[in-house]
This record gives sequence, structure tokens and C-alpha cells, in this order.
Amino acid sequence: MDHLIYLDNAATTKCAPEAVQAMLPYFSEHYGNPSSIYQLGSEGKKAVSEARSTIAKSLNADLAEIYFTAGGSESDNWALVAAAEAYESKGKHIITSAIEHHAVLHTCDYLKKRGFQITYIDVDENGIIKLDELKKAIRPDTILISVMFANNEIGTIQPIAEIGEIAREHGILFHTDAVQAYGHLPIDVEELHIDMLSASAHKIHGPKGIGFLYIRKGVKIRSFIHGGAQERGRRAGTENVPGVVGFEAAVKKAFDGLEERADKERKLRDYLIERLEKEVPYCRLNGDRTKRLPGNVNFSFQFIEGESLLIMLDMKQICASSGSACTSGSLDPSHVLLAIGLPHEIAHGSLRLTLSEENTIEELDYVVESVKEIVEKLRQMSPLYEDFVKRNQK
Ligand SMILES: *Cc1c(COP(=O)(O)O)cnc(C)c1O
Repeated sequence: MDHLIYLDNAATTKCAPEAVQAMLPYFSEHYGNPSSIYQLGSEGKKAVSEARSTIAKSLNADLAEIYFTAGGSESDNWALVAAAEAYESKGKHIITSAIEHHAVLHTCDYLKKRGFQITYIDVDENGIIKLDELKKAIRPDTILISVMFANNEIGTIQPIAEIGEIAREHGILFHTDAVQAYGHLPIDVEELHIDMLSASAHKIHGPKGIGFLYIRKGVKIRSFIHGGAQERGRRAGTENVPGVVGFEAAVKKAFDGLEERADKERKLRDYLIERLEKEVPYCRLNGDRTKRLPGNVNFSFQFIEGESLLIMLDMKQICASSGSACTSGSLDPSHVLLAIGLPHEIAHGSLRLTLSEENTIEELDYVVESVKEIVEKLRQMSPLYEDFVKRNQK
């Protein structure tokens, strides 16, 4: 292939040209501080207010329920820590799932050290949360349920309406990390009984370093970043005006023709899944086949080390990601793959390919051929594979 093939859209996306264009004037002519009195500041103030309104509409929320943050991680941290503090007098028990993003899991670790009790609900072999376990885990002192909308590794979409219903019945706050779902799936916070929702711009072709937390009116959540009175006194700091404007442009683009784009991505996704399943021996699709993000493909290949696969794909100009947390310098396989029951050695050999609508069938064909060739090559070097073949020949 004569160009780079980007299949890591769950990690980040390319900023859309519309978003870049929309941002530029807010770096140059409209650089005023939105909190200032003079005209120069009012341009930024107006832009932030319009963006808030666009985003609120996209979720069926009110514009006073949208708080801009520095991204998905901050939104998750804020939702959990501030809700824990605000509702501490009611109880110190929080329920989450075993497959959350580290922004939620590590915040739970932090809360545990501060005296909160955390229950992690298991998922089934496709990564879907066990609702009966969730119901059983609820206690009189449960103050918060936090379950992600869709998983960033295996793409599984959770039964959010059911979880929202359970939380509401018990009078418990419900937070969802929707970073992977927002802009890819339709979301209505009223219909789904969501009290708090995290999203991030750079996962939907917006700029990095900007996100929001939706907080339902009436939820007693405290500020997280202390300082000035921005974001109605709940999130201090001079507004990231260019970021907000770029986010709005990305949101408009994402929600305009969302269904058509999702259909297109699902077709590409299923084409890739079908070819890999058919043509690469000893592989397994991870995650639910249908309750799955439109752009997510995740496979485990037996007798393969995920990191070697990634390096060799990179040499063929293919950007992908694997299930071992190599970025953290650890060789532990992903907690998500372990939670769906994969043994360590199989979890190690996993590959995540996340598409965007810009990918083409020609690119995917090249990727399949490359994966086949690399997997074959790596298996030839694997003593485990050699033993396996010998045993099978007997
Ligand atoms: C990327 C991601 C985050 C973190 O978002 P940032 O904007 O990068 O901080 C949180 N949760 C999920 C599910 C993600 O995919």
C-alpha cells in the first residue's frame, strides 16, 4: 500500500478538517477571555454557549446540564469522586463493572483508599454485564452505579436502558462512560435514565484535550477543579474556546448522518471479521457479534504475541493496537480480555482494529493479507505452535 492505514480509531481519531477550520479564528482574532466585559471576549463566550447548546441537543439534555472538561478521563474522575463526596452521608458503596476504562477503575482504586467500597460486576463471555449480579449487588448504602456505554477494547455495547432502569428504581445515581459511544450511537439521556455521562472530542474527530460531563439537573455534584466561576462555578479554568468550538464542529459532523455512517462502518467491520475468521486458522473474535460498536474488530490469535504482531503491522504501515498493556510498560494482558474468560496466553495474542468511515475495502484486503502473512511467520517461530502441530498430526 502506498499510504498509511489507520485502524486505531478507538485510541484517537484524525481531527476533521471542519473542526480545524472552525477552531482557527479562536486562536487568532477571537482570542479574548470569555469572562471579560469587552467585545473581544464576547465572541468566545457566544461560541461556547452555542457549542453547549449543540451538545445538549445531541443527547436530549438541557444546556445547563453540559460541563466542559479536559476530556474523558477528567469527566470520569469528576463524576466518580465528586458524586462519592456529595453522597457520602447516604452511603459509601459504589458499583461498577470489571471491564471499565482505567479512568474509572483507577478512580475507584483511589476511592477505595478513601474508605469507599467498590463492587465490580462480572461480564459474560461476550463482555455484557450480568444484570442479575448487578441487582444482587445493590445495598441500602449504594450511592452510584458506573457502567460504560460501550467498551473501548472489544466494542461490546452494554444494556444501558436496563441499567438505567435498575438504578432509577433504587434511587441510585447512574454514570456512564460514553467516550466510545457518543457520536457513534444515538443516546437519549432521558430515555436511558442516565444521570451523568462522560464524552471526549478526540474520539469523534474533534481536538484532543476537550470533553464534557453531562450532569442531570438536581444531582448534587461538587466542583472538581477549584478556582474561577466558569462552567457555573463547577469547573474552574478559562474555557478552552478553540477546543470547544472544534468539539462542536465534530459533534455536528458526527450526528449529521450518524445512521448512514454507522451502517457503512458495520459493513466494513463485518467484512473484515468474516475474512479474518475464514482465512486465519486458530483465531477467535472477542466481544459480542452484534451488540458491538460499528467500527470495532478484536481478535485473538493463538500462539502469537500481540506486540510482535503490532510491530510487524507497523512495518507494513498499518496502525493497530493489542490487548496487552504494553504502553504502561507492563506485560499483563488486558483486564477486559481476562474478564471475558480468555486465558493469559490467548489474551496476549490479541489485535484490535478500529475503523472509521474513511477506511476502504482495498485497505482491509491489504490488512487481511498482511495479518495472514505475519501470523504465519510468527507461528513458524513459536515452539508452542510447533508442539501443537506435532500433537495434532498424531
Ligand atoms: C479514550 C477513553 C477515555 C479517556 O478519554 P480522554 O479524552 O483520552 O481522557 C475514557 N474512557 C474510554 C472508554 C475511552 O475510550
